[in-house]
Amino acid sequence: MATIINGKDVAASVIDQIKSSTLALEASDGIKPGLAVVLVGADPASQAYVGSKSKMAKECGFKSAQYSLPENTTQEALMTLVAGLNADPSIHGILVQLPLPKHLNSEAVIQLILPEKDVDGLHVVNAGKLATGDSETGLISCTPAGSLILVRTIRGDDLSGLNAVVIGRSNLFGKPMGQLLLSKNATVTMAHSRSKDLPGICSKADILVAAVGRPEMVKADWVKPGATVIDVGINRVPAPEKGEGKTKLVGDCDYAACEPVAGAITPVPGGVGPMTIAMLMANTVIAAYRKAGKKAPSF
Ligand code: NAP
Repeated sequence: MATIINGKDVAASVIDQIKSSTLALEASDGIKPGLAVVLVGADPASQAYVGSKSKMAKECGFKSAQYSLPENTTQEALMTLVAGLNADPSIHGILVQLPLPKHLNSEAVIQLILPEKDVDGLHVVNAGKLATGDSETGLISCTPAGSLILVRTIRGDDLSGLNAVVIGRSNLFGKPMGQLLLSKNATVTMAHSRSKDLPGICSKADILVAAVGRPEMVKADWVKPGATVIDVGINRVPAPEKGEGKTKLVGDCDYAACEPVAGAITPVPGGVGPMTIAMLMANTVIAAYRKAGKKAPSF
C-alpha cells in the first residue's frame, strides 16, 4: 500500500506559513501583499480558477484585485492594463489567466509583466534564473514548485542518487519541473511524445512525474515498486457509474492500478491541484518581501 500524498494538507500548511508571513510584513513595514488576477472572456473553467485564486488571496490577508475583461478585449487594452499593474506599487504579483482567447498574443502579455511581479513564473527572466540555478531572486512556476514540495514530503530535500522521470516538456510544467529536480541532485530524464519505450524509461524512475494530459496513461507496470508518483494531469472523463451525463476528474496515471505498486502517490483530485494555488500565494508574499528589501520566506 502506497502512502497517499495529501496535497490538501500540505497546501494548508503552506497557506498557514503565508498568513503568518503576511501578518509579520504588515506589522513591520505596513505592507500588504497585493495580487492582481486578470481574466479575459467567459470560459467557465478559467472563471472558476480565477475566483478561487482571488478568494484565497483575501483569505491570506492580501490586497486582492480581480479584472474581468470581455472576450473581445484588444491586445492593446490588455497590454495597457498590465502596464498599469506593473506601475502600481500596491500590486506585488500579476497573474494573467491562461489560455487567453485566440485573437490575443499571450506571450507578448506574459513578457510584459515585470519579472519581479511574475508570480506565475513564466517570464523568460524567471525561466532563465531557474535554468541557471538562481533560486534567490527568481520566481518559480507554481505547479512545479508545489510538486517539488510534495516530493520533499517523501524523499526529503536532497535527491542525490535518485532517478527522476518527468513525462511532458511544456514550458509551464515539464521543463521547470525537470530543472527543479536537477537542482535537488536527482538524475533527471525528460520524456515526451517522441520518446521511445516510455514504459521502460518510467520503470527506472524512483520519482515519476506525469504531466501529459492523457487520462490514466501511466499503467502499473510502468511504475518501479516503491516509486514516488506525482500525477499532475487533470482530465475530465465520462463517469456513467455516477449517472447519465456525469463526469469525473482523473489524472495521467491509472491510480487504482499504480497505487499498490508505488511507495507514495498523489491522488487526483486532492494531490498537486491544491499546491498550485498555494504556491501562487507563496510567490506573491515572496515578491512583497523582496520589494520591501527583506529576506523572503522560503517554502
Ligand atoms: P502540454 O503543454 O499539453 O504538454 C503536454 C506534454 O505531454 C508535451 O510535452 C507532450 O509532448 C507530452 N505528451 C503528449 N502525449 C504524450 C504521449 N503519448 N507520450 C508522452 N508524452 C506525451 O500540457 P501541460 O500544460 O504541461 O499540462 C499537462 C497536464 O497537467 C494537463 O493534464 C494539465 O491539465 C495538467 N496541469 C495541472 C496543473 C495543476 O494545477 N494540477 C497545472 C498545470 C497543468 P510533446 O512536447 O512531444 O508534444
